[in-house]
Amino acid sequence: MKIAIQSKGRLSLDSIELLTKAGFEFQKTDRSLSATVNNFPLEILFLRSGDIPEIVADGIADIGICGQNTLVESGYKLNEILPLGFGKCTLCIASPEHKEYNGMKNKKIATSYPRILESYLSEKDTPADLVDLSGSVEIAPKLNIADMICDLVSTGSTLKNNGLCVREIIFKSQAVLIAHPHLSEENIELLEKIVMRMESVIRAKKTKYIMMNAPKKKIQDISNILPSLDSPTITPLSNTEMVSIATVIQEDEFWETIDKLKEKGASGILVMPIEKVIT
Ligand code: AMP
Repeated sequence: MKIAIQSKGRLSLDSIELLTKAGFEFQKTDRSLSATVNNFPLEILFLRSGDIPEIVADGIADIGICGQNTLVESGYKLNEILPLGFGKCTLCIASPEHKEYNGMKNKKIATSYPRILESYLSEKDTPADLVDLSGSVEIAPKLNIADMICDLVSTGSTLKNNGLCVREIIFKSQAVLIAHPHLSEENIELLEKIVMRMESVIRAKKTKYIMMNAPKKKIQDISNILPSLDSPTITPLSNTEMVSIATVIQEDEFWETIDKLKEKGASGILVMPIEKVIT
């Protein structure tokens, strides 16, 4: 089975980290165009991001990792198997911050995403003049090439540096695992294993393992706060008034949960990263 991933760019390091954490062992040197996984029947192809949907559509690679923005813009109908939680960005309309914004109607819009923008404009029944640029889109209003731009925004710092601000969000994107629509039975089985491994890594990233000491009489109060995978593990301590409680908590509720635990008398709270969560 072959997987295509980005060789350089925003998704490259995260894609390699995901595969490595999912237990696929391979060596990538700076110039390598492919690598063989030595503990799983998988070959990794390192490609330009924009080429990945086509390579998967043609069946040269069976699966791939690319941004949803790249997939949709490519126009290829591939299966989106799993959102991967990295490479998050939004495709936005942005215009000069000091000028009033009156919509896109009959305006010149510079973009590297003409397909997505055209379909958005036609949904809104808004005629506009598209200026197709392959990069450095943010400079277009300054050069009077366009009135506004339609480009990806991640941190927003490139827009700010170019005196632009977001006016409309067109599309929310993140990296996704894609697959050719007609895989062999053997490759479908391999894909299921790959997805299971990736899911366990993604789930682990969102969770932390915590252990704490707490007064025995507070067990119920503390359990009510903990949104664990199952119920928490409670172990008696040599001090008979106290117990040790261990559980898994969600990263996005982390500080809120810790504050509540402390209020209920938890102490000596240890927090540990989780490598994988297999359900
Ligand atoms: P930022 O300054 O972090 O908002 O990034 C904006 C610049 O990076 C723009 O030129 C975008 O085209 C590009 N960019 C942002 N996020 C992504 C992404 N997920 N994939 C590819 N390019 C991106």
